[in-house]
Amino acid sequence: MLRNIPKVDKVLEWPGIKTLMESYPRPVIITAVRNALDQLRAELLAGTATVEVLAEEALTGRVANTLEKMNMPGLRRVINGTGVVLHTNLGRAPLAEALHDTMRDTAFGYSTLEFDVEAGKRGSRAVHVEKLLCDLTGAESAVVVNNNAAAVMLALCCLARDKEVVVSRGELVEIGGSFRIPEVMEQSGAILRGVGATNRTHPRDYRAAITEETALLLKVHTSNFAVVGFTTEVSTEELVGIGREASLPVMVDAGSGTLVDLSAYGLSGEKTVRQYLDAGADLVTFSGDKLLGGPQAGIIVGKRRSLEAMKKHPLLRALRVDKVTLATLEGTLRLYRDEQQALQQIPTLRMMTLPAEELASRARKAVRRMRRTLPASVSLKTAQGFSQVGGGTFPLLQIPTTLISVTVDNLSAQQLEQKLRTRALPIIGRISQGTFLLDPRTLADKDIADIIAALQSIAAS
Ligand SMILES: *Cc1c(COP(=O)(O)O)cnc(C)c1O
Repeated sequence: MLRNIPKVDKVLEWPGIKTLMESYPRPVIITAVRNALDQLRAELLAGTATVEVLAEEALTGRVANTLEKMNMPGLRRVINGTGVVLHTNLGRAPLAEALHDTMRDTAFGYSTLEFDVEAGKRGSRAVHVEKLLCDLTGAESAVVVNNNAAAVMLALCCLARDKEVVVSRGELVEIGGSFRIPEVMEQSGAILRGVGATNRTHPRDYRAAITEETALLLKVHTSNFAVVGFTTEVSTEELVGIGREASLPVMVDAGSGTLVDLSAYGLSGEKTVRQYLDAGADLVTFSGDKLLGGPQAGIIVGKRRSLEAMKKHPLLRALRVDKVTLATLEGTLRLYRDEQQALQQIPTLRMMTLPAEELASRARKAVRRMRRTLPASVSLKTAQGFSQVGGGTFPLLQIPTTLISVTVDNLSAQQLEQKLRTRALPIIGRISQGTFLLDPRTLADKDIADIIAALQSIAAS
């Protein structure tokens, strides 16, 4: 059987393969043919394929498929039907459409990145966002780095290297991946001084831990988990009081960090960055691509005195953001100058605050539209369910939504989920109680047409 596998040179002479040479460079085709032949050999040895796969037509089809896959960017658009607004695996926050031109202009052309147009001299790349951040949060000064992990790292390096940082044991959070407060602390050269218990930490615990070696009091947002029941935590105000008694700065890692009070929209319990600063925190760090809804970035705002050292620190150069990030962050922050505008134009805020009636009407509309074009083998229904904010924020919050349930004759929910997920334009949904579900909260209007096309082709095959 293995002897029947054709030689690469011979395959390259086949008319079907020759046609492919019009669309792909020859070296790429040679790689694809080799890959296809290797794959076939493995399948024949494993007994999962028979000699028919070696026929010219079948093999040419396989090479064409391989080429198509090789040609597809690894990082590409997906349709998020999960209802998780800040989906960490799907790129967290989608940017506002209004940033399109700014993003294109800075990415594809020259820009005022480090040029002071008025003075005709070298400028600072920080100025574009610093003033906006100060205006929006009430801070005296601001620094932007690659992500919030970098922000925490830079702050600890600058303020507490070889010194002790006091943190509640109830706040030693792991965000996912490798961000764990104790480990970031170790990398920064600061020494962690855990106080209190997992569920309860009191002001006296902080006071008892403060020594000559203490450089900073740190409060960390627990983000992706909640401790409920017999619990006590020390508020930012109280911690600031303790810091003042001992002349120590207080830093808050706010995690997500929001600029607008979301409690009016059913998302309560999340303090704004301004509230942390008003409570007296010297520094607040937060992400650009969580609740803020901007690009991946880490933002540090606070007292000028605490931030000056960071602005001069050599690490800042290693952690600085690129021009496209700065442009999109500036654009996002500009939208926040009018809160209503931010809520309408920043996709994550819009999706999180979509009213239940709007979601129900979207789900019904989508189902009607899909029924009109799809064959009877595809059944569609609406069902009540819940969406999540995601991104390690509001871990307990279930926001009511109306889901679209999809079933295709002769396919299990798992098979349907897999077929939709592995397409060139992946469609990601979820399975609950044996049914495949899509949540309109995270679907754009244009996604519906793509979902219809995908279901049509799946039903036809
Ligand atoms: C998400 C989060 C981080 C990490 O932020 P990135 O921007 O993902 O680096 C750090 N601390 C807290 C409390 C968080 O929630």
